[in-house]
Amino acid sequence: MQQLSERILHDGKCLPGGILKVDNFINHQMDPMLMRAMAEELARRFVGHSITKILTIEASGIAPAILVGECLKVPVLFAKKRVPSTLERMLTTEIFSFTKERSYTVCVSSDYLGANDRVLFVDDFLANGHAAIGMLDLIEQAGATLEGMGFLIEKSFQGGGQKLRERGIHVESLAIIESLDDCTITLKE
Ligand code: 5GP
Repeated sequence: MQQLSERILHDGKCLPGGILKVDNFINHQMDPMLMRAMAEELARRFVGHSITKILTIEASGIAPAILVGECLKVPVLFAKKRVPSTLERMLTTEIFSFTKERSYTVCVSSDYLGANDRVLFVDDFLANGHAAIGMLDLIEQAGATLEGMGFLIEKSFQGGGQKLRERGIHVESLAIIESLDDCTITLKE
């Protein structure tokens, strides 16, 4: 997506360890016009999939997910990173955080994810794919169907996208970063 690619090149910052900082327009300050355009593009790519629910993970997935949900006119469910003390009807899974370098438990209530749901997972970044695989685990526990996964930014050099596509998952990413070597952002054409 041209608009996003240009913004990444203009405002994105490389951090050591293959991290791209997009605090100027996605992860801290947000550009709602760009966010809406990105959501419309993701929704367009999954139109015809009969999606009944958007699933994301707090916190940075919520903004794009809610706008995709609005475009597709379906509810948006976010996995919580803090498991509530009332564990009843909670589905949980472990996710390794790439940016925080530790595992954490996330959960969703089975009241909101069930066998009739056809799910689109939406997140800001796809790196190694740990968050995505965790969400797939929750979807499978719920007996729901995964229709696809949509990301704003995929870092293809970390291999998550390849892993997911090899499992037959329909993955869409609006910008694909091939390398952040030497703190230079190289986008896939
Ligand atoms: P994965 O689970 O695919 O390894 O990493 C995806 C998650 O880690 C995303 O939910 C995102 O919040 C975070 N993440 C991974 N790489 C980056 C990055 O380069 N920049 C930012 N801001 N977040 C990232």
